[in-house]
Amino acid sequence: MAAVDLLVNNPLLLKSSLPDFASMRAEHIVPAVRQLLAEATAKLDVIENEIRPTWAGTLARLEEIDHPFDYGWKPVGHLFGVMNSADLRTAHDTVLPEVVQFSLRVNQSQTIYQALKQLQESSEWTLLTETRQRIVNERIKGAELAGIGLCETQRTRFNAVEQELSLLSTEFANHVLDATKAFHFDVTDVTDTLGWPRTLRTLAAHTWTAAQTVNNAITEAVVELSVATPERGPWRITLEMPLYQPFMEHCRNRSLREKLYRASVTRASHGTVDNDPLIIRILTLRQEKARLLGYPNYADVSLAMKMAPSVAAVCNMVSQLRDASWAAAVCDLDDIRSLKDSCGDATPLEAWDVPYWAERLREDRYAYTDEELRPYFPFSKVLDGLFELLERLFSITIRQATDGVSVWHPDVRFYRVYDAGNKQIAGFYLDPYSRPDNKRGGAWMDSCLGRRRLGSEMQLPVAHLVCNQTPPMGETPSLMSFREVETLFHEMGHGLQHMLTTVDDADAAGINGVEWDAVELPSQFMENWCYHRATLLNLTGHYQTGEPLPEKLFDKICAAKNFRVGTILLRQLLFGLTDMMLHSEFDPQGSESVHDLNRRLSTQLAVLPLLPEDRSLCSFQHIFSGGYAAGYYSYKWAEILSADAFSAFEDAGLEDAAAIQQIGIRFRDTVLALGGSRHPMLVFGMFRGREPNPEALLRHSGLIQPDVNSA
Ligand code: ZN
Repeated sequence: MAAVDLLVNNPLLLKSSLPDFASMRAEHIVPAVRQLLAEATAKLDVIENEIRPTWAGTLARLEEIDHPFDYGWKPVGHLFGVMNSADLRTAHDTVLPEVVQFSLRVNQSQTIYQALKQLQESSEWTLLTETRQRIVNERIKGAELAGIGLCETQRTRFNAVEQELSLLSTEFANHVLDATKAFHFDVTDVTDTLGWPRTLRTLAAHTWTAAQTVNNAITEAVVELSVATPERGPWRITLEMPLYQPFMEHCRNRSLREKLYRASVTRASHGTVDNDPLIIRILTLRQEKARLLGYPNYADVSLAMKMAPSVAAVCNMVSQLRDASWAAAVCDLDDIRSLKDSCGDATPLEAWDVPYWAERLREDRYAYTDEELRPYFPFSKVLDGLFELLERLFSITIRQATDGVSVWHPDVRFYRVYDAGNKQIAGFYLDPYSRPDNKRGGAWMDSCLGRRRLGSEMQLPVAHLVCNQTPPMGETPSLMSFREVETLFHEMGHGLQHMLTTVDDADAAGINGVEWDAVELPSQFMENWCYHRATLLNLTGHYQTGEPLPEKLFDKICAAKNFRVGTILLRQLLFGLTDMMLHSEFDPQGSESVHDLNRRLSTQLAVLPLLPEDRSLCSFQHIFSGGYAAGYYSYKWAEILSADAFSAFEDAGLEDAAAIQQIGIRFRDTVLALGGSRHPMLVFGMFRGREPNPEALLRHSGLIQPDVNSA
């Protein structure tokens, strides 16, 4: 096709209605995105030239620049995740740097930054809505955290620090990867595999075979291809999670477990892949970055854009949760120890014994398999039950589109969301099934179109809900595991915040502008409903007999949820507190090493102390090569919010339909509607009438007993 045709009939250049996914081809991407970038650059030049320190002269015009990218660039990222192909990848990678370059130019524009600062001081400021004031404030803060307010010398240093940090982050991840690859051992004695689940045998045998193939290819030796079998081995064990976890849970050979455990906690801590010096350098540079920005430490930089107000608030959360879970964790360990002793194992309990004996205990008490549950959760039944719940809670109706909306795969459905007056307020695509050939794993919600004002019209929000659940097979419909059901509820929760927003300014509509440690509130809130008996039973109906889930299985699901919950909670708290302390009080040049700090904190937060040689921070990628630095606590923070929000419904009485609806509407009108237009603490207060507290989370986890008076 000639270049000019690619611009004339290019679905990525549409600017209204729903994107035409079915017509999009890889060859549309480069010409469309370059065209959009050229137009946007020209507009940005004009905006910068004509800039006025007013809302209309700054952010209103920038919103206009964003809009075409909803149609021309967002679908590219989306298809990259759900319909990947070599052609698509090449086209995506070709224009990605240009798109990044452009967004950097917008976000780091001195002209825009100065105009926004003037707007804050202008007479128009007090006339702006709270939403717009917050958008301006957050935008300025974001720009300042990226170094925009610094003088020339400081900015040069700041950029050098950022660049080095980015290299260190990659190097840290590469070391972990290389160290993971470098370690393995082979199990050749079939007695060592007694008790292994079939999946572990298969994966370990496959891993062995794959390694032989690679070696042969490298040496180019003509060797008859050796193939391991799940029954006869050999079995290769590595530090990769899909092997590590089942091996630690099922291998009866204690010394092999010890070997693997020790390798895991010392990974990337010696030789050419030693991450120790990198950790010190990263912490030193982060501290320097914080000082340049005028903050006492890096934790305060991280918290500047989060809901948690201070390091002290995070530490307070840790100590509250710690106090509530310590006794339970001690009990967990006692349970494991007595089971081990009663099985005639007289060795002292060590860290490498815990997963193994915990798994025996779990089998003993709560075991159910996905396969037992799946027949009760046919996809269509789950979806109907979910939509009924949403109607009950939020007075919305969801109907599948029958007018041939253009989609990227025949399995994808499009739904419209209507309010109580039957007016359409949003829509969403649901791409439910696993498609390993071209779809990324995991599940996610993404914005397809955001709610935004377009002249006198309002663009309705449209979401992508993407899951990877078990597809239908032949005559058998898609039968979901319980985890897949929870995942669908989780993503729907994110989707609801995107779709039920009532904010008209795009930068604060839906999940836009929501603080990172608050963004999981609606999603985890929705998961809570999967443990409400009436709601869950309404999702079930055996695909052959129509029978609901037996009560016995429901009870097991609930009990299994809280298995060893104290231990698991403490583990998360240790990660969270170590992360927070490393980025606040810790002195990288001081006498205490990072590992000493971790071990010192573990005396408060781990029932079984860390080994003296524990170097697990050397593979803590979340904080040294991911985005979680001084932010790991967010997992628990958001869980407190979501559990506390759910408890408002419990307080009203989960079986009281009228009361539930009343609270549901309040949740819709605050948490779901206001999105990023207010500080999350304010939004939470509007819904709950007070600040969040961890009582509900602890009660749901079985760590404190329900208060009988309020029941
Ligand atoms: Zn989520």
